[in-house]
Amino acid sequence: MFADTTLVRDAFESLHEIREANDPWDKVALHSSDLVKCAREVWARRSGKPMLPLGSDVLRQFRIGVDFEEQVLEALEQKYAGTTIEILRQAEYFGLNNGVELVGHPDFILRDTVTGELQPIEVKTTTFVARWNKATGNKDVFLPKEPAERYVIQAGTNAIQIGSDTFRIVVVCRNTGKMVEFVLQTSTFAPRIRALQAHYALVTGPNQPEPHHEVPPAHIASFACKFCAYAGCENNKNPLMGVL
Ligand code: SF4
Repeated sequence: MFADTTLVRDAFESLHEIREANDPWDKVALHSSDLVKCAREVWARRSGKPMLPLGSDVLRQFRIGVDFEEQVLEALEQKYAGTTIEILRQAEYFGLNNGVELVGHPDFILRDTVTGELQPIEVKTTTFVARWNKATGNKDVFLPKEPAERYVIQAGTNAIQIGSDTFRIVVVCRNTGKMVEFVLQTSTFAPRIRALQAHYALVTGPNQPEPHHEVPPAHIASFACKFCAYAGCENNKNPLMGVL
C-alpha cells in the first residue's frame, strides 16, 4: 500500500493545481512586485498570453517564505501586544501611485497608534550560503550589508503608496537561519521608483504592443530568463519549456 515513492510529491502536485486554479491574484493589474521583473514578461501576463506554470519547486519555495512571514508576525505580536505599536497584516492596497494604477501588498505595516506613523515591512527568504570553502571545510556564509535592489524597489513602492517616510526589509537565510534587518528612507529611492512606475505602466499595459526591446533589468539578469513564465519569448530558458 505504501510502497509508492511519489506519494508526498503527488499530494503536493494536486495541492498546487488546486491553489493555482483558485488563485485570486489579479493578472491584468500592475503590481508593485512587477517593477522588479522583466517588463516583457509582465506585459505577456497582463495581456493574457499563455504563461508557463510556476512549477512545484517554486511553489514550495514560496511556501517556505510564507511560513517565515508567519514567524515574523508571531514574534511581533507577542512582543508588542498592548503597546502603541499596532501590526497590520496582509494590507493589500489598490490605487494611484505616482499617477499609476498599482496593486501592492506589503507583508505587514507597523502603525504607531499615538502619532499615526506607518512603516511597511517586507519579509524575504533566501540563502546567504555562497560556496564550499575547501580551506575551512565549511560553506561560506555572506551576510548582506545592504538589501538586494529588487527588495528595495518592491518595498519602497509600498512605502510611497502608504505615505511612509521609511520602510523595513527583513531577510532570512533558509540554510542557516541567519537574519538581517534594514530600515531605509523612502525619499532616497523615490525618484528611481517613480521612473520605474512610469516606464512599466507605459510598456506593460495590456493594450500596448509587445515590448520586444525589453530585457531583464541588470539586478535580475543572471536568472530572470531561467524562471520566466512567458513561453512566447525567444530568450526563455525555463526548464518547464521542455514539458509544454
Ligand atoms: S525570457 Fe527573459 S527576456 Fe524574455 S520575457 Fe522572459 S525574462 Fe524577459
